Amino acid sequence: MMKQTSSLLIALLVAGISHAAENKSPAVGYSDTPKLPSGWRVHDIDRPQPIAVTPGSQVGEAPSDAIVLFNGTDLSKWAGVKQADAKKKKYNPDGLALWKVEKGYMECTPFGDIYTKDDFGDCQLHIEWQSENPPKGDSQGRGNSGIFLMGLYEIQVLDCYENRTYADGSAGSVYGQNPPMVNACRKPGEWQVYDIVFQAPRFAGDKLVSPAYVTVFFNGILVQYKTEILGPTMNKMLPHYKPHAAKLPIKLQDHNNPTRFRNIWIRELELANP
Ligand code: MG
Repeated sequence: MMKQTSSLLIALLVAGISHAAENKSPAVGYSDTPKLPSGWRVHDIDRPQPIAVTPGSQVGEAPSDAIVLFNGTDLSKWAGVKQADAKKKKYNPDGLALWKVEKGYMECTPFGDIYTKDDFGDCQLHIEWQSENPPKGDSQGRGNSGIFLMGLYEIQVLDCYENRTYADGSAGSVYGQNPPMVNACRKPGEWQVYDIVFQAPRFAGDKLVSPAYVTVFFNGILVQYKTEILGPTMNKMLPHYKPHAAKLPIKLQDHNNPTRFRNIWIRELELANP
């Protein structure tokens, strides 16, 4: 046992020395190569190194630089609407997120939409959802929820497995604006995965400088690619931008269907202006 411990200590020491040596190693690259449009030279010796991020141990797990918004146990990162609207069955005066949490997931209840307590702009968002099984209702009444980026721009959540609806209301659509490239929906009762890259709109005073853009992978399949978002989500109406803050909460929609969510994490980004 003693011998094993000594060996382990030696191994750690050697690893530490080699790591330190690596940090002090001379920069690698060139200072006499042609310049790229970015201003950096090809293989530029002075170009900053990428920051190291530890990936999750499995695909879909949060990497080391992610903010975990829901880990299956509590809604501490979420708030509810202070007063449920008239269509909802319950009144929620304290503004708590009151969705049911059990077995590692949260589930919509009649308490209304929930919002992240923190604000987000440009981001990479991972979120998993599951619609009711056996399914009830049809078209927009079947497994409807939604992920509203900045609380305004909806990526539709809908049970689209053998459920016909209008194309721009399908799962993975920018609701009311752009259908997904394909229908990648699994059967109800199975977990579905969205990986979203969102670029927030840019405003200068009252003026829109750049619209929002979104890329979405649905169960690993590309369904939106740099899709221009035309404005906040509307139903049966054209969208129009109104200036807003650079960061706002993300909203999950209660559409009166018991949709479940799990494994929600986000990486804040600062994407280059398009
Ligand atoms: Mg919806």
